[in-house]
Amino acid sequence: MDKTLVLVVEDDKAVRNLITTTLNASHSYSLLTASTGESAILQAVSKNPDIIILDLGLPDEDGMEVIRKIRTWSNRPIIVVSARSEDEDKIDALDAGADDYLTKPFSVEELLARIRVAVRKMQYDSRAVEDEAFFENGALKIDYSAASVFVGGQEIHLTPIEYKLLCLLAKNVGKVLTHHYILTHVWPNPAEADSSLVRVFMATLRKKIEADPSKPVYIQTHIGIGYRMNRVP
Ligand code: CA
Repeated sequence: MDKTLVLVVEDDKAVRNLITTTLNASHSYSLLTASTGESAILQAVSKNPDIIILDLGLPDEDGMEVIRKIRTWSNRPIIVVSARSEDEDKIDALDAGADDYLTKPFSVEELLARIRVAVRKMQYDSRAVEDEAFFENGALKIDYSAASVFVGGQEIHLTPIEYKLLCLLAKNVGKVLTHHYILTHVWPNPAEADSSLVRVFMATLRKKIEADPSKPVYIQTHIGIGYRMNRVP
């Protein structure tokens, strides 16, 4: 298999070196690096990397702008790297089209795990067809044509909101969805809803699809940010 081409955009030399050394050591990746937004865009256009790791605080351009530009032509995974104090930025970055985020300082294991998730998402995206009739993930199955959901072959009954919520997560499997994104895509009138409602419906959905709702395997919580559906073997 060809190596996955990763573009690392980071102006902090120490962090950039940590990322490139980690990825080089695993022998599964080829690397491109950029330390400015302008160079990131140029390389994204000319080399079409499989995955982009993007620092939000760049010297010339806001990382958010870089995401918006790249998203005008590419849906390849973008993993944002930012400091913990930039929680709002993370949410904006996800809403602008980033797939995932890492908080500095991060461990190399965490970085590699996020990249593996992104690779799986990319492989899944390349197979997925727009009008796919079924979604399958572990024991979970959605039959879109019948609007039915099964866990381990057993049909479960969801409310309309729970169903929409599950379908949204399933269509974006591997990607972190913000509370705002979920509200605007699931609720008929998002202006009257707030993120506490998302929590309530997520809890009732988990009770129906997770074997142990206190240790969810399908839907992962990102505190203060949102939720992600994980690929389950
Ligand atoms: Ca920076």
